Amino acid sequence: MSATDVITPSRLKPMPVPQPVELSPKPSLIGMTREEMGAALKEKGVADKQIKMRVSQLWNWIYVRGVSDFDSMANVSKDMREMLKTHFTIARPEIVEEQVSNDGTRKWLLRFPPRGAGRPVEVESVYIPEEGRGTLCISSQVGCSLTCSFCHTGTQRLVRNLTAEEILSQLLLARDRLGDFPDREAPQGTIMPAEGRKVSNIVMMGMGEPLYNFDSVKQALLIASDGDGLSLSKRRITLSTSGVVPEIYRTGDEIGVMLAISLHAVRDDLRDMLVPINKKYPLKELMDACRAYPGLSNARRITFEYVMLKGVNDSLEDAKGLIQLLKGIPAKINLIPFNPWPGTNYQCSDWEQIEKFADFINSAGYASPIRTPRGRDILAACGQLKSESERMRKTERLAFEAMMIANHGED
Ligand code: SAH
Ligand code: SF4
Repeated sequence: MSATDVITPSRLKPMPVPQPVELSPKPSLIGMTREEMGAALKEKGVADKQIKMRVSQLWNWIYVRGVSDFDSMANVSKDMREMLKTHFTIARPEIVEEQVSNDGTRKWLLRFPPRGAGRPVEVESVYIPEEGRGTLCISSQVGCSLTCSFCHTGTQRLVRNLTAEEILSQLLLARDRLGDFPDREAPQGTIMPAEGRKVSNIVMMGMGEPLYNFDSVKQALLIASDGDGLSLSKRRITLSTSGVVPEIYRTGDEIGVMLAISLHAVRDDLRDMLVPINKKYPLKELMDACRAYPGLSNARRITFEYVMLKGVNDSLEDAKGLIQLLKGIPAKINLIPFNPWPGTNYQCSDWEQIEKFADFINSAGYASPIRTPRGRDILAACGQLKSESERMRKTERLAFEAMMIANHGED
């Protein structure tokens, strides 16, 4: 991709959008651990000796076959189904909007019902198909409490954390819409190997800081990687953080997925400005946590995200500093061209400079591919809020819609 590439006009292919599901105050079984599901069934009168079997039946229907209503559960008795319908739900969120780019990228705007006294919230998920894999970018919060100065989400307050159900529902819904639950009718749900799936990888790179919602993110990712359910390999799940050091250790110990760090600067003074959480957890502590991340090897590297900001962090001096900082850490570097938003004082680095920066890094032995931006006609920029796409002027849009550039997770 170069700055001179011609951007073809958008040709959106709207998809039929299903009717909104009824907002339901009933608790969802999606996102519960097996223990929680068992306790919920017990509370509704299911006999102790049946609980284990019922939970594993439900688990299979929900996560292997991907059903979204209890009536589809053919091997569950009618009485049991009625009981489940009365007390629980497994409905998907409402699809407010679904867009399909001419390059196959899809974007969903989803609405989740209110929690308690709250209001409904909307989040976006983005799906990026590529040769040999497809990556779903998932949100963990509505808004963000951190204030990274180049990030539009950072200008908006945190509305609330998403629940484990809401995090997982983004994956279930994407699989529904992409036809990724093909064995739904099979007598025994069989788990589809990753190679055959549309969503083969997920990245926690949507809205929010996943490590500020640790418990729900952990629960959702453990369910997504559960071998008797969605069965997504932990190597195909990447969690991106701005650097919440204590929870990076916990991520390694308790979740075990691949890690991406939003680095963006190699000096504390600059990183304090770009990623203010750096004041709390400076680079030295962050790098120590990275070095200690379990299971690192050449085949299992940490991804370092680095947004290219013109005249701010894009000099060859910075590139040199980056190589020094990462010494000894099995690392990949994703250079992300800055995606401008109205009101920002930052500009994206010139292409020439990005290429020079990338060349420097490559010559130091790091692959830092600058991939073709995807889904630009539907503004499918991971890490960007829907309101941003609504407000962004066309020229700004064309300037760059490339957040997804190298952020798609790895095999
Ligand atoms: N909060 C998490 C994950 C979501 S953001 C984190 O910060 O890691 C996903 C990536 O997009 C992060 O690396 C983030 O720094 C980057 N990002 C945010 N706004 C951007 C913008 N306007 N242009 C380019 N990258 C941006
Ligand atoms: Fe939050 Fe990540 Fe944006 Fe920083 S970059 S404000 S942590 S979403």
